[in-house]
Amino acid sequence: MIELPERLLEEMVTHARREAPREVCGWLAGAEGRVREIHPVPNVADAPELRFLMEPGAQLAAMREIERRGLEIVGTYHSHPRTPADPSARDRSLALYPDLAHLILSLAGEEPELRAHRISDGRLKPLGLKVQ
Ligand SMILES: [Zn+2]
Repeated sequence: MIELPERLLEEMVTHARREAPREVCGWLAGAEGRVREIHPVPNVADAPELRFLMEPGAQLAAMREIERRGLEIVGTYHSHPRTPADPSARDRSLALYPDLAHLILSLAGEEPELRAHRISDGRLKPLGLKVQ
């Protein structure tokens, strides 16, 4: 189970819509399964409308900032501007953090849709998500 405050979902949706059709990505910082902050990281993939790659320097800076603030990384998120909120084959094969929540925000439907999974050895486990 991971909990996300409503205002952070709105922040994520605003950011994802602004950058669409490019995917956005970033870290989720918090504690004990509750997200307290989102830390967007620039997507520097060669085809950002199809995939994401966190800019390495900004990724590291965000990780350090999260640690400095006494929070931990509880997950990662990215957007799917035109596809459902399920991890792609590439998302599954590149997921490096089996303990983290992987959140995907889809803008493909009329309403934004957010789903959470854990990904371990390329296998998906749906994760409960509570937005409040
Ligand atoms: Zn994806």
